[in-house]
Amino acid sequence: MKTLVTGGAGFIGSHLCDHLVARGHEVTVLDDLSTGSIDNLSHAERAPGFRFVHGDILDRDLVDALVAESDAVYHLAAAVGVHTIVDSPLRSLRTNLHGTENVVEAAVAHQVPYMVASTSEVYGKNDADGLTEDDDRVYGSPTKSRWSYAAAKGLDELVAYVHGVESGVPCVITRFFNVVGPRQTGRYGMVVPRFVDQALNGAPITVYGTGTQRRCFGSVFDVVPAMTRLMETPEAHNRAVNLGGREEVSIKGLADRVIALTGSTSSITYVDYEQAYGEGYEDMQRRYPDTSLAARLIGFEPTRDLNDIIQSLVEHRRSIQSVPTPA
Ligand code: UDP
Repeated sequence: MKTLVTGGAGFIGSHLCDHLVARGHEVTVLDDLSTGSIDNLSHAERAPGFRFVHGDILDRDLVDALVAESDAVYHLAAAVGVHTIVDSPLRSLRTNLHGTENVVEAAVAHQVPYMVASTSEVYGKNDADGLTEDDDRVYGSPTKSRWSYAAAKGLDELVAYVHGVESGVPCVITRFFNVVGPRQTGRYGMVVPRFVDQALNGAPITVYGTGTQRRCFGSVFDVVPAMTRLMETPEAHNRAVNLGGREEVSIKGLADRVIALTGSTSSITYVDYEQAYGEGYEDMQRRYPDTSLAARLIGFEPTRDLNDIIQSLVEHRRSIQSVPTPA
């Protein structure tokens, strides 16, 4: 089976490629290496039929040609990470809107089943105790870049969903909740690799805001197999499905946990949101997934707790010789 993975050199994308090649897929990766890295593909690229294409999802003709020769498409290429979104809002918007439109239109034109990776950001400030897929989106002003990102991902879902319904081509939308694991970098904002790198370097752990905001981190090793299972499950088609972990933690609690697990001498330093992200930034206080739909559809059950998730990243970072401290 020929499978196209856009964004396959990224963190989740590269783990998906490993999983697909282990299942005998001939994988083609389309990636512009803006935030991904070719090093992430060192396992997958040894597999028969593996191909890396350095290119942009905004290149409509290239996308169309690659989709036309595929049996399935996983679309993960996107502008990701809060720092990326805040620093390059227009570029991020273009990539996330038009890039997804290109992939979905090509998939529908060539009748190729497709998955569009979305995010828990689409729920915005809704801090319900267990967000379900039909819950409301609660956004601030679109002039604040974080909400423009959330709005763009919401539109991506709509483009994917409506095309899927109207064409009958199988489509799955996955909403990732703070997925973490080896190969994830803190360079673009993600908190766990940032804290791990800071702890391993003995640098201050930068907790933004009060640290009372809460998140629930999921393991990439739980989420990736769920993606292929959803694609193979007809009842999952034309649905958005939450994927994430179960253990909720405050960001201050996360910092304490990372310090304890690494045996670090780092202290915790509190940084204002404005200093971290610039003026007018809004954070969500809580984001906790209800993953019972995934459980019903494919028997999804997170198997890694927060300690496992942090440890997997620590081991990976320790295996890399020097660990740069995130700015
Ligand atoms: N965060 C933090 N220090 C950092 C990076 C992030 O305290 O160095 C906070 C961030 O403000 C947010 C949480 O950690 O409250 C999760 O941030 P991340 O960017 O990983 O994911 P998201 O905000 O999309 O949930």
